[in-house]
Amino acid sequence: MSSISNIGHFIGGKAVAGQSGQSKDVFNPATGEVTGKLALATTAEVDAAVASAHAAFPAWSALAPLKRARVLFKFKALLDQHHDELARMITVEHGKVFSDAQGEVARGIEVVEFACGIPQLLKGQFTEQIGGGIDNWSMRQPLGVVAGITPFNFPVMVPMWMFPVAIACGNTFVLKPSERDPSAAIRIAELLKEAGLPDGVFNVVQGDKVAVDALIAHPDVQALSFVGSTPIAEYIYAEGTKRGKRVQALGGAKNHLVVMPDANLDQAVDALIGAAYGSAGERCMAISVAVAVGDIADELVERLVPRVKALQIGNGLEGHIEMGPLVTGEHRAKVVGYIDQGVKEGATLVVDGRGHVVDGHEKGFYVGGTLFDNVTADMKIYKEEIFGPVLAVVRAPDFATALDLINKHEFGNGVSLFTSDGGVARAFTHGVQVGMVGVNVPIPVPMAWHSFGGWKRSLFGDHHAYGEEGVRFYTRFKSVMQRWPDSIAKGAEFTMPVQK
Ligand code: NAD
Repeated sequence: MSSISNIGHFIGGKAVAGQSGQSKDVFNPATGEVTGKLALATTAEVDAAVASAHAAFPAWSALAPLKRARVLFKFKALLDQHHDELARMITVEHGKVFSDAQGEVARGIEVVEFACGIPQLLKGQFTEQIGGGIDNWSMRQPLGVVAGITPFNFPVMVPMWMFPVAIACGNTFVLKPSERDPSAAIRIAELLKEAGLPDGVFNVVQGDKVAVDALIAHPDVQALSFVGSTPIAEYIYAEGTKRGKRVQALGGAKNHLVVMPDANLDQAVDALIGAAYGSAGERCMAISVAVAVGDIADELVERLVPRVKALQIGNGLEGHIEMGPLVTGEHRAKVVGYIDQGVKEGATLVVDGRGHVVDGHEKGFYVGGTLFDNVTADMKIYKEEIFGPVLAVVRAPDFATALDLINKHEFGNGVSLFTSDGGVARAFTHGVQVGMVGVNVPIPVPMAWHSFGGWKRSLFGDHHAYGEEGVRFYTRFKSVMQRWPDSIAKGAEFTMPVQK
């Protein structure tokens, strides 16, 4: 009996096998084995998912917000019940360690909890008596069918940045998950159905560019939420907005952590190790650059080296593992290519993770923790997102140089500063051109009610993800003025009505 599963779509409340005949292998990155065959949707299959969402929209959007919230309350209870099952699905297709996958599920659940408050969030504004017998109010209404296109690195959490808020607002949803770890999305669809979500409100189409392009082109898709790499984010933003769609497209990152000479070095080193090597660096909020300010650099590097060498690397489902493999063999080759490039560019390779082998899992996609020192702003390994367990140390003479370095970088997703000086921290949080800022916090991912998003080429669009920004993105604003016959003055008015 084959242990390779066939992974299909979820349309109109049921699992649907792919019809295209096109498929893609899904791997367990810890072992290198193929575990699934993913069906790649055709345009016709995407059309079927959109049609199902379109048909479900009138009834779902007409439901009282409290009733929509009740479905989400049940969904949240089911997520708690199936927390570890989902985390396990993440680990076997993504590779991150199980405890980290549990954390991912927990951060996704927080957005569901936020969305449960939708009756309060959708409350409008009202002004009585703006003129004789006239009242004015405003309200937010759902858009219709909206789509989410998500990356491999958070197969549960990133979709949950989107659909809980979108459906709570009254929209219906089509999710196109990453083709590298697609199984959790189907389980989420099943749990939503079990929670009582009407068929067609949440659909999943698996696929690649063909599916994404079909979603962009479909006239019934009103809005696109995207999270992934910057070139694709820019493409989706351009193509979507060209067709009059609302688009939020979150892109790549190169997150710096500045270590000031007065920082608590023990804390800064712990922060760097966790934030650079956790999830093998495959986080959009991973720290990939340490900026050592002043004369702290030598000691910082000295302390990092043994910690990087001691990282416990292996299958994230086994024992005390701190770092798992990269997601695919292809991605591992890309990361190794960057390490080669850093050496060619003249950076000092202090710890080399190339060729790392895990006993018993020789075919797994592992790269060991890698540390570069003396990296400079003109190097490719500084400019580009590597998305692997590679930390680059850049030396800066003073705070102003460190800040300027960060502000000149093309990305502006997350950033962090370690210091014990409140004045420096204040100047940093005020002046840094980055969307999410940590002070003595290495990975400042905002809570579910604070919204997530970067600046510069880390986000295309006007709204950040989830929180109140999410509610604004997934709704249209409408303003109503009303009066009744007993207050209507006689005769036509030809001038602008003004308050006298
Ligand atoms: P990716 O851009 O390769 O893929 C993201 C999605 O786009 C997937 O669903 C994929 O199928 C689709 N896609 C890929 N190529 C496409 C194409 N040519 N046309 C249309 N659609 C296409 O990203 P990834 O490798 O899955 O994820 C890693 C990237 O995501 C990193 O750059 C990371 O920084 C970024 N990311 C950003 C955030 C954020 O909040 N800013 C969060 C998580 C991940």
